[in-house]
Amino acid sequence: SRQGDPVLVHGEDAHSARRTGEVLLDVSNLHVGYDQPDGSLVEVVRGVDLTIRRGEVHGLIGESGSGKSQTSFAILGLLPSGGRVVDGSVVFEGVQLANADADAYATVRGTRMAYIPQEPMSNLDPMFTIGSQLTEPLRKTQGMDKKAATKKALALLARVGIPDPQRTFDAYPHQISGGMAQRVLIAGAVSSDPDLLIADEPTTALDVTIQAEVLDLTRDLQQDYDMAVLLVTHNFGVVADLCDRVSVMREGKIIETGPVRGIFADPQHAYTQSLLDAML
Ligand code: ADP
Ligand code: MG
Repeated sequence: SRQGDPVLVHGEDAHSARRTGEVLLDVSNLHVGYDQPDGSLVEVVRGVDLTIRRGEVHGLIGESGSGKSQTSFAILGLLPSGGRVVDGSVVFEGVQLANADADAYATVRGTRMAYIPQEPMSNLDPMFTIGSQLTEPLRKTQGMDKKAATKKALALLARVGIPDPQRTFDAYPHQISGGMAQRVLIAGAVSSDPDLLIADEPTTALDVTIQAEVLDLTRDLQQDYDMAVLLVTHNFGVVADLCDRVSVMREGKIIETGPVRGIFADPQHAYTQSLLDAML
């Protein structure tokens, strides 16, 4: 059941229409909730509608606690324990993923869909070298032998701007900086040539001096790999620099969506206006 205010949808302009094509991901009326010990349900995502097109960079913006990460986790099938999709649909490349079993997700996550977290170290295993963490998925999902996977991993490390790829390949996570770790995760994310990269505030945990470098890298790779990116951020400046379209999230819902230029020129929702005002 659909409730509340309709999403404010901006028309297309020539710029965004040229850049973007068919629908890649269609999230409709998504509700995510956590069951409480007393039997009640706390909803943290409350009816999200979100459409990502092939090849576009789509910003998901909203203040802390608005439900951006929970929406991302639900799309990826990575909700923390206790969380579940209560209602709605997540259709990726024509396949319904909402409440899909692990097998259905295994066919898309890590191959067609990739993820970069806010805290890079949280997605690296301290017990294994960077090299083994990059080559294992290549061997598993792409069937590469050790030599081919090593060669590809070293090339990816060079591609993401790591100055001494062999040294980083041989290093353990604690031996590299947060910025290098995020580059490593970006290398891993693009290694399967995904159609969608979900980047959840990928620079928030990094030093200010390298935030722009990592964002530029993300944009370069988006073009090289011709993938769509869902870029989660609370910064409208990042949206202005990098995104084709943007969806504004507030209290578990998308309240406004459209081409970035349209939203900047003529925000329809007072909350969007307040986010833009805060930027100046
Ligand atoms: P954002 O990424 O926009 O900052 P989140 O998606 O992380 O927001 O959080 C949305 C809401 O979900 C918040 O109110 C948060 O407290 C709540 N939340 C996050 N994780 C859990 C959890 N494991 N159990 C219950 N509520 C949670
Ligand atoms: Mg978050």
